[in-house]
Amino acid sequence: MLAVGSAVSTTLTAAEPLPATERPLIELRDVVKEFPVQSSGLFRRSRERVQAVSGISLDIRRGETLALVGETGCGKSTLARCLVRLHDVTSGSIRFDGHEIASASTRAMQPFRRRMQMIFQDPYGSLNPRRRVGAMIGDPFTIHEGVAGDALLERVREMMTLVGLNPEHYNRFPGDFSGGQRQRVGIARALALRPELVVCDEPVSALDVSIQAQILNLLMDLQGELRLTYLFISHDLSVVRHVSDRVAVMYLGCLVEIAPVTQLFAASQHPYTRALLSSVPVPRIERAPACEEIILLGDPPSPMAPPSGCRFHPRCPRAQARCQAEVPVMRALRDQDAEHLVACHFPLAEGETMTSSGGRRA
Ligand code: SF4
Repeated sequence: MLAVGSAVSTTLTAAEPLPATERPLIELRDVVKEFPVQSSGLFRRSRERVQAVSGISLDIRRGETLALVGETGCGKSTLARCLVRLHDVTSGSIRFDGHEIASASTRAMQPFRRRMQMIFQDPYGSLNPRRRVGAMIGDPFTIHEGVAGDALLERVREMMTLVGLNPEHYNRFPGDFSGGQRQRVGIARALALRPELVVCDEPVSALDVSIQAQILNLLMDLQGELRLTYLFISHDLSVVRHVSDRVAVMYLGCLVEIAPVTQLFAASQHPYTRALLSSVPVPRIERAPACEEIILLGDPPSPMAPPSGCRFHPRCPRAQARCQAEVPVMRALRDQDAEHLVACHFPLAEGETMTSSGGRRA
């Protein structure tokens, strides 16, 4: 295992201004999101707060797909909603194309709203069943650009063709479409104003497996055609492996590892990432570190009372006394791995397995 002292300090901080073309599209610094929690009892007060996102810093580069993974409830969807300002952040900085938007007013956000869009998980629930799909796809053109009449119909047909829908079906209702077609309607609505950033929140998890590949391929084709940047949230690591350029792993509101996708799947360094990846089917048996099956003990702790130090320590097979006392910071372990950051006091070295280092194995 690498000595901790050999780590390269690459903790994300306020950086030197970069030329606009090199600057990441999104720069998050120390983003915190807390929610008040209603306490029950005779005298109801909401003084308690739960921290869903705890000081996350990361960049999303132009044209890339950054996947955000982690167990249900780890805060990945909350972080995405903060990013597009569906939630206000409690503290921290969000820069979109160099502009600070974390505390921007509704009015100040208007020019940015059309540049960032979301595709939701549930194509059934995100469409109004009583409205015709053409009207819903046309809403962004009407609201933001004042387009009407034949020009609006033409734009709607263009969008339907772009996402692989029959443009003659603009007068139909969502109930007339299959699940995959409804997700195409959702994609058409999201892309109508040619956004730069699209947050895809579990975009295929509600679909049949046979349809998932079609929607994923459509998203990747559209990314190339429209030069889109994706933040792709998924709990399905096979999907993540297929679509993403880099992967960021979250645990209990914190970022624990971020790396290029091939590197993460071949040589993850954080014990939690290793456990998460161990559930993914691996085609080649020689990839030993990824093949070991690791079962974590216990459930994730409550975010209302997160563990001290490293939040993963109660479940981590490699935990030592330092892990309880000291919060690990994101850092790279080697100069040549500046792209691969991990927050762990005792990260796994290349080729090291959890079992060889004393971890529990199924
Ligand atoms: Fe495990 Fe310690 Fe690393 Fe946390 S810091 S993941 S408890 S080894």
